Amino acid sequence: MPQITAPRGTRDLLPEEAVAFSHVESVSRDLARRYAFERIEIPLFERVELFARGLGESSDAVEKEMFRVGGARGSDEERAEWALRPEPTAGIVRAFIEHGMHVRPGPLRLTTTGPMFRYDRPQAGRYRQFSQWDVEVLGDPGPAVDAELIELAHRFYAEVGLSGVVAHVNSIGDAACRPPYREALVDHFRPHVERLGEDARRRLEVNPLRVLDDKALDPDLAASAPRSVDHLCEPCREHFAAVLALLDAVGARYEVDHRLVRGLDYYTRTAFEFVIAGREGQQQALGGGGRYDGLVEVLGGRPTAGIGFGIGLDRTVLAMDEQGVTVPPAGPLVAVVGFGDDHADRLRVAATLRDAGLAVRPDGTSRKLGKQLESAAKAGAGWAVIIGEELARGEVGLKDLATGGQRTIGVDEVATAVRG
Ligand code: AMP
Repeated sequence: MPQITAPRGTRDLLPEEAVAFSHVESVSRDLARRYAFERIEIPLFERVELFARGLGESSDAVEKEMFRVGGARGSDEERAEWALRPEPTAGIVRAFIEHGMHVRPGPLRLTTTGPMFRYDRPQAGRYRQFSQWDVEVLGDPGPAVDAELIELAHRFYAEVGLSGVVAHVNSIGDAACRPPYREALVDHFRPHVERLGEDARRRLEVNPLRVLDDKALDPDLAASAPRSVDHLCEPCREHFAAVLALLDAVGARYEVDHRLVRGLDYYTRTAFEFVIAGREGQQQALGGGGRYDGLVEVLGGRPTAGIGFGIGLDRTVLAMDEQGVTVPPAGPLVAVVGFGDDHADRLRVAATLRDAGLAVRPDGTSRKLGKQLESAAKAGAGWAVIIGEELARGEVGLKDLATGGQRTIGVDEVATAVRG
């Protein structure tokens, strides 16, 4: 029988790889706490309609990458209805509207972490299932919060140990100034349509801003293209200037990137993306986000300002690997070993050590002591607690598996001793 393997574009996170992942998740959780975000969870799948309206029909996520699903007995009709979430913003905004969250004291600061799905062609750093840490702020028109989120993302990359991360920022205007900018782009590209690739030609018709997003765009055509910052209406211009001034004030590293328009249709004003300096253009963004002041209304709620970002955890871990970032070791691992069938004692001592906060692996066999110690060392334990007759006095043997040194100490002294 042929071996069953993981679906294309997915990957198993084996224990040794999961260490870095867990570290990155714990950094994000701690930052979410320090930046006063509240957790929200939304389903992994939603109506296709939500993403079509929320992300825009012309976004890659909807046009090319939607991961459709049906029920076990799903009819074709049902399959047409549901999709695995390609990103969490649309679902969070749906929940915000559905639960009348606008009446809560705002602005709301929400965070979620979990898998996203895009049925794209898999390649390095591009999976069909990947994890994102996401934050969203609803009800805050900025500009301070725009800078705060960019600073937060920077702090995340710094705290996981990455260096050289730069924020690319741009403003893509709003409902007042975007239409004339779109016109200006169409006027610029249309006479050169033969120099555009197939993707860019299609984008020129449905969403001309996204021609700028085309990685294969002729560099001369890109360089001479009208820039959105030159077409902003006065309120958008002031907003963007304030965001940049605040980024300067907090010392966040950024570059204005006139080609950054982001793939999703619902963005307004501030758009940003994080890359490792010098690795731009490799479709390797570590994260990105932006303002979406029109989205709540588009999905049927009252007009509410919104801004958020999604950080790709897989790519963050890949970048850490590339930069040789080492993850701080977890606390010491202690094995509990003994003689014969003293398993009740081993479990009792293990429980006491766990009460003291240690990570403990009791040996469940009745093998010779030497064998138990050998497998403890192989499992990565730094210490072995050896149970013998002295347990009657509340004492055990404590063996340093690296040096081989051994002494007898009280069970209640073990935690302090192994923590050094
Ligand atoms: P986006 O909403 O496309 O800007 O995605 C936000 C972040 O999620 C990106 O900057 C990536 O770090 C990550 N990401 C997006 N798509 C994928 C994918 N197919 N595989 C892995 N990571 C992804």
